[in-house]
Amino acid sequence: MPKEAKKEAKTAKKAEKLAGEILAQAKHFAAEKPDEVKKALAFCGPYKAYLDASKTERECAANTVRILQKAGYKPFVAGKKLAAGDKVYLLHRGKAVIAATLGKQSLEKGVRMVISHIDSPRLDLKPAPLYEAEELSYFKTHYYGGVRKYQWVAIPLSMHGVVVKKDGTSVEISLGEAEGDPVFTITDLLPHLSAEQNKRSLADGIRGEELNILVGALPFEEPEAKEAVKLETMRLLHEKYGIAERDFARAEIEFVPAMKAADVGFDGSMVGAYGQDDRVCAYTSLMAETETKSPEFTSVCVMVDKEETGSDGNTGLAGDFFFHFLQELCEQQKANYRTMLAASVCLSADVNAAYDPTFPDVYEKRNTCFMNHGAVLTKYTGARGKGSTSDASAEFMGYVTRLFDDAGVPWQIGELGKVDAGGGGTIAKFVANKNVEVVDIGVPVLSMHSPFEITSKLDVYTLYQGFKAFVAAKE
Ligand code: MN
Ligand code: MN
Repeated sequence: MPKEAKKEAKTAKKAEKLAGEILAQAKHFAAEKPDEVKKALAFCGPYKAYLDASKTERECAANTVRILQKAGYKPFVAGKKLAAGDKVYLLHRGKAVIAATLGKQSLEKGVRMVISHIDSPRLDLKPAPLYEAEELSYFKTHYYGGVRKYQWVAIPLSMHGVVVKKDGTSVEISLGEAEGDPVFTITDLLPHLSAEQNKRSLADGIRGEELNILVGALPFEEPEAKEAVKLETMRLLHEKYGIAERDFARAEIEFVPAMKAADVGFDGSMVGAYGQDDRVCAYTSLMAETETKSPEFTSVCVMVDKEETGSDGNTGLAGDFFFHFLQELCEQQKANYRTMLAASVCLSADVNAAYDPTFPDVYEKRNTCFMNHGAVLTKYTGARGKGSTSDASAEFMGYVTRLFDDAGVPWQIGELGKVDAGGGGTIAKFVANKNVEVVDIGVPVLSMHSPFEITSKLDVYTLYQGFKAFVAAKE
């Protein structure tokens, strides 16, 4: 080798070495952990089953409770003394779940919270939903959460929820998921006649009052009767569920995509399913929680409702129910509630937007999360100059990333899109406001909030490992 070339090669080696030491290296999970790919893929089999059985917050809460009971968790009873290693759960109003494993240390040393949400964007029925138009019957809806309305037409929808009847009894509905069930749909125009509709903006392509679900077409046995199709639809509902039209006013009925979770890609390495925001965090944190044995600090795994509408209400985290639970725990142990909060740490478990190569304009590539690069830490959320965010401290970012590095958990950072491109919030601020250290963590998601969201199985597995490391931490 000529002298010049030799010198160049030596310099390049030096640069490579230095870069390896002090520059951030982004790596595909398969490159970083080749031995764990198979395990990661297998982990998501039960995850898909969890999604299929958890199409709404109520179903997810009930499904979660079944898993907790099987894992030996006992119902939480206020005032009852608990010892280290005890496992308890609380089902809150049927829509939120708290599971805890009592630690060896006093609560005043702080608890480890992992908090996800189990509500997802969807179409709720209005209180007076049923009507007939030109001999077809429909339900009126009001969308819940951030929905791109055009994505919800011309797909099969299923019906889920609870109806409280006049006499106070209630009936649960889940229709459109089982083999042989009918499904429902919202119609859209055919391309041949959509010239005018095509002039609308995408946001306006389908309007809120156009999200009307087709639910029937046959008339009552006396077809001349007034609104005979509506009558027949209501008759069928009455026959099947014992409900009358007025009962819709005392109901919570949600329409969601009637699709099962599926493997995506020739390699089957991705999960496609409705509601992965944020049931992916619910499932992974639940698995980490149930596998926890005699932790140093009390672990509290929480799944809340109403995140998609701002967390307000008696099942959301802006409300008090979760903090009341913590107060009850403290009272049992005669621990100081404020001391416990100040010493506590929390992972706000929620998803982030994966970089989408088809739509690069909305992302700032250096600060975006990528599919297969591991659990994503989102230091702050919010919009327009970090408005309405909880910005994790350098110290807490240091703590969490150190934990992950020590446990060999691949992590990446992620900001939700370019500055001023949009934004969003999570439950993090409601916990931070109580004087708890908190940071957002989740997985990258493609097509977030759509009827068919995409995650990487490798990331899902990584997140689970991250939660395990967090819950098992000794300091
Ligand atoms: Mn979310
Ligand atoms: Mn969301």
